[in-house]
Amino acid sequence: MLDIKFIRENPKEVKEICNKRNINLNIDELISLDNEFRNIKKRIDDLRQLKNSLNGPKNSQKIKVLKEDLKKLELKFKSITNKRNYYLDRIPNILSDDVPIGLDEKDNIEIYKYNEKKIFNFIPLIHDELCVKKDILDIKQGSKVSGNGFYYWKNKGAIVLRALINYAIDFLLEKNFELMFTPILTRKKSLYGTGFIPFISDENYKIEDEDLNLIGTSEQTLISYNMDKLLKEKDLPILYTAYTPCFRTESGSYGKESRGIFRVHQFNKVEQICFCKPEDSEKYFDFLIKNSIDFMKSLDLHFRVVNVCSGDLGAPAFKKYDIESWFPGFKAYRETHSGSNILDFQSRRLNIKYLKNDLFIYPHTLNCTLVTDRTLLAIIEQNQTEDGRILVPEPLKKYLNFNYF
Ligand code: AMP
Repeated sequence: MLDIKFIRENPKEVKEICNKRNINLNIDELISLDNEFRNIKKRIDDLRQLKNSLNGPKNSQKIKVLKEDLKKLELKFKSITNKRNYYLDRIPNILSDDVPIGLDEKDNIEIYKYNEKKIFNFIPLIHDELCVKKDILDIKQGSKVSGNGFYYWKNKGAIVLRALINYAIDFLLEKNFELMFTPILTRKKSLYGTGFIPFISDENYKIEDEDLNLIGTSEQTLISYNMDKLLKEKDLPILYTAYTPCFRTESGSYGKESRGIFRVHQFNKVEQICFCKPEDSEKYFDFLIKNSIDFMKSLDLHFRVVNVCSGDLGAPAFKKYDIESWFPGFKAYRETHSGSNILDFQSRRLNIKYLKNDLFIYPHTLNCTLVTDRTLLAIIEQNQTEDGRILVPEPLKKYLNFNYF
């Protein structure tokens, strides 16, 4: 959420941001609602003051009239506040100067690349074909039991996934992240607070007749963990990690790649989260991205990093980098990681502050993927051998008692 004072003072800039992000919102309407909101609020305050100054039986008629006027104004105020909030909730974050301006992922800009595409002397398979052949993944029974977009990892596939998750958690524990196991159901206010409502409200599965939703990412529960808290300046940065399953309806992905288990309704993820002082958020953005890059380098994978363009950024993000790994079976780079600097957009909505020299400050929040099942898919596709085996990456060997799967 942007500060209304900023919007009031910079309407032209806010309109430009909406244009660059392809968001159609009537900023003039918000500003006129805000004027009305402030006028009515002042009238209510004045009337209340007047009412309090009058007492005694000779003023009873005046007080009665004032009370009626107040009641009408308060009703009007409620309706204006709701309309004003509707717009305020939908204003996206400001954009970093280095965000490429563009419509969709085709306009993202590559900023880093690691390793080269491996030359295979055979035609590399797509992960689903290879995994089903090796009986380490069962998509057929997954879809029978739970529907399309669900699957079972099994045999050495399940063992390697567990090793990868353990390695990811150990990797972050060494960098002083605090490990949490979070709820995987959450209330609407945490989805609102983290910006998923209203920006991608259809993405979370809802539990019927309850204020509960399956999390789409542990960002929702890890950021909301500090909801309504006054943090201590000396505790910043706060670094959290969690392993959770993530659930997505993928309602907006019609027509996107759906072969295999690349885009599914349930997947596993180890996430990085940071709360920091505003002046440090660029530094911690680089830190989170570097962690993911170093993690991928340690697995000896070929990947690139892209600076995500304005139209593909997601409304809460000020800046976002994606890691796209090479999938030789797919013959394409595909997103495996995403890291964003959200500035104070989430901490405002969630009422998270810290105190500095008698001033309340909203900390900045950041997030970045460390590992998901997609990382395992990249390993599987990149490390396949001519004899139909998959080479275990070096850092996973200490978690396993085999070198191929
Ligand atoms: P996001 O939170 O949407 O930025 O996604 C973070 C990471 O989660 C992505 O880079 C993927 O690795 C993974 N991911 C997101 N959506 C899906 C999905 N529907 N199926 C599988 N993995 C996903």
